[in-house]
Amino acid sequence: MIAFLINSKKINFYKKDSEFIKPENISVKNGNNQINIDKMNFSNNCIEILLKNSINIKYISYIIYENNDIKINYCNFFDSDEFNDKYYYDGTLGAIYEKKGTCFKLWSPAAQSVDLLLYKYGDPAFSSSCIKIPMAENEKGLWITAIRGNFEGYYYNYLVNVYDNESEIVDPYAKAVGINGLRGAIINFDKTSIKGWNADKGPEINSYTDSIIYEISIRDMSSFLDSGIKNRKLFLGLSEENTVSSKNVTTGLNHIKELGVTHVQVMPSFDFSYGNADEKNPSDYNWGYNPVNYNVPEGSYSTDPFDPYVRIREMKKMIVAFHKKGIGVNMDVVFNHTANIYESSFEKSFPGYFFRTSIYGTYANGSGCGNDTASERKMFRKYMIDSVLFWAHEYHIDGFRFDLMGLHDIETMKTIKKRLDSSGKKYMVYGEGWDLDTPLPDSEKSTIENSYKIPQIGFFNDKFRDSVKGNVFCEEERGFISGKEGLENEICKDITGSIDYSEDVKGPFVSPEQSINYVSCHDNLTLWDKIEKSVKNADINTKKSMAKLAIGITLTSQGVPFLHSGIDFCRTKNGESNSYNLPDKINCMDWDRKYEFMDVFNYTKGLIKLRNEHPAFRMKKAEDIRKNIEFLKNTPKNTVAFLIKNHANGDLWENIIVIYNGNFQNVKIHIPYKNINVCTDENTSGDDILYKTDSDEIEIKPLSLKVMFN
Ligand code: CA
Repeated sequence: MIAFLINSKKINFYKKDSEFIKPENISVKNGNNQINIDKMNFSNNCIEILLKNSINIKYISYIIYENNDIKINYCNFFDSDEFNDKYYYDGTLGAIYEKKGTCFKLWSPAAQSVDLLLYKYGDPAFSSSCIKIPMAENEKGLWITAIRGNFEGYYYNYLVNVYDNESEIVDPYAKAVGINGLRGAIINFDKTSIKGWNADKGPEINSYTDSIIYEISIRDMSSFLDSGIKNRKLFLGLSEENTVSSKNVTTGLNHIKELGVTHVQVMPSFDFSYGNADEKNPSDYNWGYNPVNYNVPEGSYSTDPFDPYVRIREMKKMIVAFHKKGIGVNMDVVFNHTANIYESSFEKSFPGYFFRTSIYGTYANGSGCGNDTASERKMFRKYMIDSVLFWAHEYHIDGFRFDLMGLHDIETMKTIKKRLDSSGKKYMVYGEGWDLDTPLPDSEKSTIENSYKIPQIGFFNDKFRDSVKGNVFCEEERGFISGKEGLENEICKDITGSIDYSEDVKGPFVSPEQSINYVSCHDNLTLWDKIEKSVKNADINTKKSMAKLAIGITLTSQGVPFLHSGIDFCRTKNGESNSYNLPDKINCMDWDRKYEFMDVFNYTKGLIKLRNEHPAFRMKKAEDIRKNIEFLKNTPKNTVAFLIKNHANGDLWENIIVIYNGNFQNVKIHIPYKNINVCTDENTSGDDILYKTDSDEIEIKPLSLKVMFN
């Protein structure tokens, strides 16, 4: 037996053989009040109960039937127009600081009372004494209070009483916090400005395809002892310029600049759970996919997590440093779940509203973390929009990567993109469009399958990843670069940005801007470890060739190239496929290894230069790809050869020929030109002429690529 509130005066009660129920045996209780029933309509397995008075959602309701109390689930009502008309609040939430006073706003129509708790200290372990100030509710379910005077430097929480449970919560809208994010902090954002901040600006892009994304972790970039970086493992570490290791290889920001990528994608940098990484214990390691305070930087990356200003200023310093080098900063955002549902300020302030539940009332678990958020509910949608806009405007973030984006509804993603771009700047918005099991209609999920409905948004291309290096869930499976046969057609899809290129070469996307082309990322094995596990007994040079070919395919394909940091020097995590909480020695960027694999680093750098200098590899429109790319026919198996013609996308080069050889032997391929310039071969990459060919038969070395032009 289950029951749902449909509108404030209507309940659907599902019960087998409902036609045998006697109406006089049913009653409805809302808190301690009996609600009179106006009418009941019986149909097969469902009784529609119409009430004389509205249900008050501040109280739990039950259907009393014989000796059963059946809890009425409110989630359908939360989705109704009646609810949204009554309670949706579009204004500013959180603590609004001014010198003359601070105003506090929390939204919870279910709360019976809310008090503001003002603290002198940010650390609950140090002192719990506080001033308690009752807040008043308006008709929208908004709880408000204002305090006169300058409260900068104070900390605050809310004491919320809902369904007779009293709990202390951190403001979900907190923009600054004390140690471990356990109390909100009242600060003056004017004081977070740092040198160069007002003039600070990220790079402008005309098309996502003009970017090359490099995925980094703040900590991993400088945790290696011999990095030449002073502020190791911290935001500030990435603001240090011209750093080198003792072997004189560039490190940190200097490394990223030398490589030539256009954007970094920063793994979680919002405040994540202290249960996973205690800010008082710097040896704790966690990637941070456990969000707590979405609008605050993570404290463990700051030099002083106790002082709420420090983490904000230091994150801004890092962003300025990237922007000064012309590098955009994309933030990895994780709105699809929270660290822990029972500790969540959302759930404690308004149980059942912010998270999806099954019809039996259990929390949805498409994320695997046990608490899928409900982006389709208007106040959580607003939360996501407000948060993203805050990071874009206050922190000058240039793009957003949405973790498990397939769990979010299309309307939310569309609105986020529209609101971001309304400022005139083009923001990158992309994410993981996997189709996961969550109670949202398939047609509304932001999945790859629905990508045509959101053509402005990018998607991690798992088909690209798996075709190039082998299936990610089967460690021993090989891909095109490691000799698996029959993948030529898949590689053609990769090359054309996974758009609808032809009847045979057809991907899911309407635009190459949607295809985030990658072979590895923080999840699963690194490219090098995947090669090691899937290709046993190969010598190191063979494995390096495979890695270079994988990077080459990523950087010469249409779409948006994405590189996992360290792929450029064959990063290894010693075969660990999920290193989210493993020590620095597994996760670090090992700069000694960069020294050792300098040839692969230089090769990657050359390919990045080739791409950056040549718009032919970065076409923005699907129709241009259809017009300008032509595959060469009758090529040997495990090879793909293509021509980019017509000075594509305004390129200085009229014709470019790219050939990939996935065989362990040399191959010869006929091309339509006799004297053509070679700029990239198995050893050297870039856009300079290495030599000219003297025949229209080109030899390609095993497991390598060649790029030519005239
Ligand atoms: Ca934290």
